[in-house]
Amino acid sequence: MRASKSRVLHRSLRETPPKAIGGEGVWLIAEDGRRILDASGGAAVSCLGHQHPRVLEAMSRQASKLAYAHTAFFSSEPAEALADKLVGHEPGGLAYAYLVSGGSEAVEAGIKLARQYFIEIGQPQRRHFIARRQSYHGNTLGALAAGGNAWRREPYAPLLSSAFSHVTPAFAYHEKRDGESETDFVSRLAAELEEEFQRLGPENVAAFIAEPVVGATAGCVPAPEGYFRAVREICDSYGALVIFDEVMCGMGRTGTLHAWEQEGIAPDIQAIAKGLGGGYQPIGAMLASGRIVDAVRDGSGAFQHGHTYLAHPMACAAALEVQRVIDAEQLLDRVKKLGSQLERRLTERFGNHRHIGDIRGRGLFQAIELVADRPTRAPFDPALKLHQRVKAIAFEGGLGCYPAGGTVDGRSGDHVLLAPPYIATSDNIDMIVDRLGQAVDSALKSVG
Ligand code: PLP
Repeated sequence: MRASKSRVLHRSLRETPPKAIGGEGVWLIAEDGRRILDASGGAAVSCLGHQHPRVLEAMSRQASKLAYAHTAFFSSEPAEALADKLVGHEPGGLAYAYLVSGGSEAVEAGIKLARQYFIEIGQPQRRHFIARRQSYHGNTLGALAAGGNAWRREPYAPLLSSAFSHVTPAFAYHEKRDGESETDFVSRLAAELEEEFQRLGPENVAAFIAEPVVGATAGCVPAPEGYFRAVREICDSYGALVIFDEVMCGMGRTGTLHAWEQEGIAPDIQAIAKGLGGGYQPIGAMLASGRIVDAVRDGSGAFQHGHTYLAHPMACAAALEVQRVIDAEQLLDRVKKLGSQLERRLTERFGNHRHIGDIRGRGLFQAIELVADRPTRAPFDPALKLHQRVKAIAFEGGLGCYPAGGTVDGRSGDHVLLAPPYIATSDNIDMIVDRLGQAVDSALKSVG
């Protein structure tokens, strides 16, 4: 980092990060020539790595035809083809795609569609949403209100809707009591959700929203077996919708195209982004079930929402090609294989480490959690910002990890999240674990 002369409002207002000037597969190239192994695909975005020739060609083809046309007047070939690719086969009943520019927009659209659906079917009192603590659904005000990260919410709390309440996350490492079985843990969480419905009045709840595998706030936390089936049952019994936020964990990251495929249930509404366009263009999507869209079509006839860059042809063309490449190169199989290798290597390197309390995740979406004391799972003092030290040292050593990962609301410890590109090699995976191991050990040394 160097002293700032930049006019760009960067994340830090004190430091300007180095310029990235190129990319090659899993590698990012900095202005000083350093090559950084992109072990988190940025923010779990670059699933095909950088500069995939097929995607570049598809973008160039589209640019030569049409970059933009307003969706009030036109659809476009790439938008139609992308929606067909995503929901033409109606996975889990999801039959329509609303194409936006990123994850927060996709979540906002999902929340608004759920609300509008209930107005259209004559249940306008359904205005409450139940979410979970230690979740992240985006930074726009609606998505932030859904999120359950107290630190992110705090400065904006007076601006956030009170329509969202938060229950305990299915985060076994921290929330499961000593001696409690996984089944009892799931039953306890289900009972809490049930109580929350009762507190709000079940007829007033529009939807439950959750990330099937929690990403940014907690670090790759899958739910215990049966949890999401229990959630679905409770929501169904009260006529509430299930919204899944797969912005980070979706589009193949966990080894199946949708993370919910591993849970035995499907949502009514789903948000996707990141791996959808692989970073080649900013794009996200809200997928909605046929019954919801049909009800709105039969009612007012229009979703009362919109953005200037909806279904942007360039973004859709890039995302379509990313998804075609995932199929053509059978990358979901590769994610499963490399994911098992990553998990195994992390376990070999950190399984007996006195300061690594948990190794968790699915597919190429894995995290380690650093704790001061393994038996009690006590985190390090947040003031040490240990996760930042690990990542800064890793970066110096040529390894890029996901930037977030601090102690969340005093509940979880520092974590490091890995989300390598699906096109990584087995050697890349070994190198990620080796470099991370060195960074963890020297960061721990620096805090004594
Ligand atoms: N939802 C989840 C689960 C995310 O991880 C993120 C971003 O990290 C978002 C929503 C917001 O997406 P975006 O940053 O594209 O607005």
